[in-house]
Amino acid sequence: MTETNPTGRRRTDADDTASEVTTAGSGPLPRARHRMPIEPERRSLRVLFVGPAPEDHARLTEMMRAVGSPLVTVDHAVDESHAVEALRSTHYDAVLYLVRDARQGWSRFVRDRRVPAVPILYIDSTGRSQTRALRRSQALHEGAACYLLDEELSGPHIETAIHGAIERLRLQKAVNEVQERFALAVRGSNDGVWEWLLDSGEMHFSRRWRELLGYGVDELSNSADEWFERVHPADLLGLRADLDTHLAGHKAYHEFEHRLRASDGTYRWVISRGVVQRDATGNPVRMAGSLTDTSNYRLREQKLLEESRQDPLTNLPRREPFLERLRNAIDLANAYDDYSFTVMMVDVDRFRWLADSIGHRAAETMLSILARRLVACVRPGDTVSRFGGDKFAVLLENVDDVQQGALIAERIRRSVGEPFEVEGQTVYTTVSIGLTTSGRGYQDAEDVINDVGAAANRAKEEGHDRLRIFETKMRDDALSSLRMEVALRQAVERNEFELRYQPIVELRAGKLTGFEALVRWRHPRRDLVSPGEFIPIAEQTGLIVPLGRWVLREATRQLAEWTAMLPPGRTLTMAVNLSGRQVADPRLLEEIQSLVDEYGLGRGTLKLELTESVLVKNADVVQRFITDLKERGVHLWVDDFGTGYSSLSYLHRFPVDGLKIDKAFVDGLDGTDQSAAMVRTILSLAENLGVGAIAEGIEQNVQADQLRALGCASGQGYLFSRPIPADEVQALLVQG
Ligand code: C2E
Ligand code: MG
Ligand code: MG
Repeated sequence: MTETNPTGRRRTDADDTASEVTTAGSGPLPRARHRMPIEPERRSLRVLFVGPAPEDHARLTEMMRAVGSPLVTVDHAVDESHAVEALRSTHYDAVLYLVRDARQGWSRFVRDRRVPAVPILYIDSTGRSQTRALRRSQALHEGAACYLLDEELSGPHIETAIHGAIERLRLQKAVNEVQERFALAVRGSNDGVWEWLLDSGEMHFSRRWRELLGYGVDELSNSADEWFERVHPADLLGLRADLDTHLAGHKAYHEFEHRLRASDGTYRWVISRGVVQRDATGNPVRMAGSLTDTSNYRLREQKLLEESRQDPLTNLPRREPFLERLRNAIDLANAYDDYSFTVMMVDVDRFRWLADSIGHRAAETMLSILARRLVACVRPGDTVSRFGGDKFAVLLENVDDVQQGALIAERIRRSVGEPFEVEGQTVYTTVSIGLTTSGRGYQDAEDVINDVGAAANRAKEEGHDRLRIFETKMRDDALSSLRMEVALRQAVERNEFELRYQPIVELRAGKLTGFEALVRWRHPRRDLVSPGEFIPIAEQTGLIVPLGRWVLREATRQLAEWTAMLPPGRTLTMAVNLSGRQVADPRLLEEIQSLVDEYGLGRGTLKLELTESVLVKNADVVQRFITDLKERGVHLWVDDFGTGYSSLSYLHRFPVDGLKIDKAFVDGLDGTDQSAAMVRTILSLAENLGVGAIAEGIEQNVQADQLRALGCASGQGYLFSRPIPADEVQALLVQG
């Protein structure tokens, strides 16, 4: 069977099988258990990569492999004609089409009629950011299922894009089927029919038309208003525009999908189609057409979309869908005087502390119960979202009265105050709530989020367990951590981080022995942001795990690269800082092992730095960790030594390789004996334990001299060098 579908490509028998599968209810999206109960088996994917360079093919294959599941096969076609051949002989789930040169003949390929319908993911690898928007709209216009930027690609990213594209194509086919059915039999079908007498404005609706919306034969009058007044406000302009375009003769027929309010107040998705009749002079006199109910397809589409954007713990929408609804609410509030909304940020008080004391699993269970209580406090049409970690965002529609919002906030506060029974324990918690309303004239969802976040923070500062309504002066409060969190999350996705390397020198000879890798955030609108500003938030939010993984990998890669530049026999060391969250991540060891293997690191060249508090707080994990590290020849140093725990007993439990003497003790060195007391103690402790010592933060010659005299072997500090970018290190090594 060959028919042409609206995208201009031919449908083949394979397509029909695919759409049969769709109607039978088995969609893809096989990744997460909670998402698609329909298909029990995980399906393997076969995708075709189109691009001349084998390196690109290898890279994408590797990326997809790294995702691990499901099984993915990536075939390679070097150009369009090979691709067309491959697509005609083999069934592919998707095409990854890489464009390196902006002039490449991409559109010819999409329009090729011999190619069966398959989602094409356009990967922009031209690196030209100026014309990106143009290429994006062109690619989508020409039929790309999705547009991806090469530099932002990651395995999970493409995998999600592929699944999304496949699903869209299937849904599109399902909708096409509805349209084709319509073309075959309008009258005999289930569709409603309407006729519009343009002179009088009278409109007649068939019985089926009324039934679709749940009305009886006599319930609607013969007026066009019965239709237009039921159209969803967001669709009305589009519908009118489509009718006008057709009536004015610019479009051969009217066809528009929109939502209509049924008798029970809910909206149904329908497609309205029609044609105009004109008199001898060409004036429109009458229009007739049909109404098709597409709600089931729409609902399914929506459900799939929403499920993939749901938080599995609480079954609530995550951040992105919430922001979309909020944007929509802002648009409606700006367009209609009688529409309003209220937003609340509900932030669980001292959640980290609670999780540490009752255990993380119990804390998660508690969050899921709390989520259910929140939902029970609002009306069915309102939105509650797990906005991130222990923060829930709530959107109340048609509430703009602060008093009314405050009542609901109070209801929430009380409901959360009830005891939680989790895993055999009774737990209590409270929430701090920030609130703002559409009355403030918002244009931007981010502003709303920042404002409720600031108000919630204020509630926390004032002693937790309370509501604060946003006031403009809160906006000026220092960069809210929430805003920072949003930006940081994006930064991790886009990898806006860089490493600086601070040389570590042997104090006696002044010889360079290695580096400490220190991370920086290249913020798009600010100067380089230093880790002190963002590491604590990355820690709190867990973002430190992906970030730290990148730091470790990048620093190790550099170490291997620089070591290879040295004369034989010479080595370099690289110190990398680890946070508590990373150490608690069971995958860390595996990663370190694979780095050691991949880069063939010499023993003792990679040094991990942990602060005393991280060591002590994660004692059990660290103990196992250190033994495993030792086997792999990776060293462990105590950072900022002397500032943390007064008890030194842990040093006997953990066989660390060295102590970094905190800058605070080095600062005090002025050449006198008294000033050296602390440093001397630490040095003799290190000697007794048989471990190394490095002094941090050496800024003056007097400090360096005194450290040498005290027998401190190594140091780092501005006196020798600030942390420098990789290319400067390279130059340094070349000079020798
Ligand atoms: P740290 O590990 O104790 O690193 C030493 C800090 O002292 C660095 O600050 C370094 O730039 C600074 N410093 C070195 N010499 C001098 C000096 O002579 N004078 C002064 N005033 N400062 C000096 P930086 O780069 O801002 O890093 C701050 C802290 O952030 C680090 O302290 C470390 O705890 C953390 N950090 C940095 N990179 C990472 C990372 O990749 N992961 C994790 N988890 N933490 C990191
Ligand atoms: Mg350090
Ligand atoms: Mg330090």
